[in-house]
Amino acid sequence: MIKLDRTPKPVELTAELQVALTDEFKSTGKSVWNVDFIKKGLLGFSNDKCCYCEANINEESKYLEVEHFNHKDTYKDEVLEWENLLPSCKKCNGTKNDHDTKLEPIIDPSKIDPKNHLKYWRYRIKGSDEFGKLTVSVLKLNDQDRLVKKRFEIGNAIQEKLEQLNELTDDYISGVQTSTRRKNRVVNGTKDLMKEGLPTAIYSATSAAVILTDTEFEALKSKLTSLGFWDAELAQLEIELNKTALKLEK
Ligand SMILES: [Zn+2]
Repeated sequence: MIKLDRTPKPVELTAELQVALTDEFKSTGKSVWNVDFIKKGLLGFSNDKCCYCEANINEESKYLEVEHFNHKDTYKDEVLEWENLLPSCKKCNGTKNDHDTKLEPIIDPSKIDPKNHLKYWRYRIKGSDEFGKLTVSVLKLNDQDRLVKKRFEIGNAIQEKLEQLNELTDDYISGVQTSTRRKNRVVNGTKDLMKEGLPTAIYSATSAAVILTDTEFEALKSKLTSLGFWDAELAQLEIELNKTALKLEK
């Protein structure tokens, strides 16, 4: 989970339409929020990802559910309040179900930065305070099959890639392979890998945390720095990753 910057309410959702649709929901129970401009607006500020688990939900919007942070059956007046709507995958939406977020608050990633309340521990997300712990529990953020295994696969792939990049760099340093092509392969490979931890990428909180805390990354950075290859783009990527990453507890 990462902090999301909510975009302004879609212009199509006028005050009049909001009232009319909210009334329609109250009298018919119809899913009045299932309209394209709302879905499009929600996907826009979440980079096409679920706001809780960071899975991709943009495959023709078929996995997207309009999530009511304050539950729609309990807080009927808020069913079309833009501030109450979030983009969620079916799993997270179903898991959170009718949890009452006013009685027992959890993290709303459009308002609160998750990394202030959550941390990583061996591919599991842990609350660093009671608020974080309740969030993990309500959203089942350590669902074994769906999330923990996925994080492990991502972490493993990143570690492999970091080892490869270190080997390629070692060849360059030892003079085995000093071509510009090799230099570009190492620098661009590092950039591509780091981009997996940007907010636009799926599961970015995991990727960013793994990259920044892996000893192979420290080694690679130090080698590239001494070669003069750690350029402004790489430095900027590192800053961006620090914003996304959940703190890793060792
Ligand atoms: Zn999800």
